Amino acid sequence: MTEKKTMNYPATGTLHAPADSEVLLRGVLVYGEGEPADVLVRAGVIAEIAAAGALSTEGETLDLPGQVLLPGLVDMHVHLREPGREDTETIASGSAAAARGGFTAVFTMANTDPVTDNPAIAEMVWMKGQQTNLCDVHPVGSITKGLAGKDLTEFGMMAASEAKVRMFSDDGKCVADPQLMRRAVEYSKGLDVLLAQHCEEPRLTEGAVAHEGETAARLGLRGWPRVAEEAIVIRDALLARDYGGRLHICHASTEGTVELLRWAKEHDIPLSAEVTPHHLVLTDEKLETYDGNFRVNPPLREHADTLALRQALIDGTLDCVATDHAPHGSEEKCCEFDKARPGMLGLETSLALIARLFVTDVPAGQEPQNWRFVAKVMSERPAEIVKLPGHGRPVAVGEPANLCVVDTGRAWTAHGADFASKASNTPYEGEDLPVKVSTTLLRGRITCRDGEAVTD
Ligand SMILES: [Zn+2]
Repeated sequence: MTEKKTMNYPATGTLHAPADSEVLLRGVLVYGEGEPADVLVRAGVIAEIAAAGALSTEGETLDLPGQVLLPGLVDMHVHLREPGREDTETIASGSAAAARGGFTAVFTMANTDPVTDNPAIAEMVWMKGQQTNLCDVHPVGSITKGLAGKDLTEFGMMAASEAKVRMFSDDGKCVADPQLMRRAVEYSKGLDVLLAQHCEEPRLTEGAVAHEGETAARLGLRGWPRVAEEAIVIRDALLARDYGGRLHICHASTEGTVELLRWAKEHDIPLSAEVTPHHLVLTDEKLETYDGNFRVNPPLREHADTLALRQALIDGTLDCVATDHAPHGSEEKCCEFDKARPGMLGLETSLALIARLFVTDVPAGQEPQNWRFVAKVMSERPAEIVKLPGHGRPVAVGEPANLCVVDTGRAWTAHGADFASKASNTPYEGEDLPVKVSTTLLRGRITCRDGEAVTD
């Protein structure tokens, strides 16, 4: 029965480029390496790769000289706010933001209204994503009914639905009850689905709005201590050790979490973890202005935490980057800091931030990485962790044409108002970024052209 449910997953999304369609990507650097190449995509598949200038097509040719061709990005953690808060984001606007960010698949969290705790909501989300056809939008099912932390949802029914739910999370809230989490682990194991934990011991974060440290003390903000995250990380690592399953840690934010993950991996515990761009590049010093755009959960930490997180991503202790894209209306952000809703936009800035931090503008003392590293942490590993076929595959002949192209000569300035997202709550407003996604292809169909989402 378990095997049947696993086999039941679709190879990939349902919509494909027409059989005779061709797109030629001219002059690209595959993974940013070697000589410029032409890559011909036919019927949604990479059909040929040859030296630049060697291939031609009756279809569309995109001249992308010296731009970096990567597999389409995969984001395990976004909030697209539909159903319930379509005023801040919809599946359509979030898909457009994803396409502009280079993503071909995203997983949208269950904390919508109503909650994605049953097959009907999951199928609605999946189908709206397929109708929009800019990105595969996979619904995450909630672990507990109504995110109430009391009763488990029917993982099996959601996994077997049209949406083929393969990841479950109460994200936004922690599954704090250890016995309930143990049952969830045992249940998930039989279905081979992933459980993603928002690690936050709620008794330790009551009223907390900022990282517990010097900055919060000076600003008079209630502190969110590291132990609130780390206590759940180690508890869940031990549950995974004793009961198996596949557990994933959402938005790791502290040096201590890194140490615990390192221990867990040394002991072959089946645990993966993600980190957000904002926890890699921003610190709680940003809170000095009381700007609500810097409120996020878990909170921005200290410089030492960012250094530990960066090193952990480099050495594989942290598996991947996820944006935790969290749109909010301006009235939810432009208010007193402790009333601002936690969360930041991420889809349209993440590739540029990760490329800047690890490839193009590496801080002194940090080991530079190449574009294959970016492909690994933003595409290959997330697809592997979720067991998502068709995405995160090598850029090679015969592979599905889920691709993104990065223009390394195109610096730009982030402005929330320019984003495809309905919301504009970016913590990077006015910041100069060195590279931009120019092109995204979803199964051979162009979803982002010259930096803009293709909506027809
Ligand atoms: Zn979360």
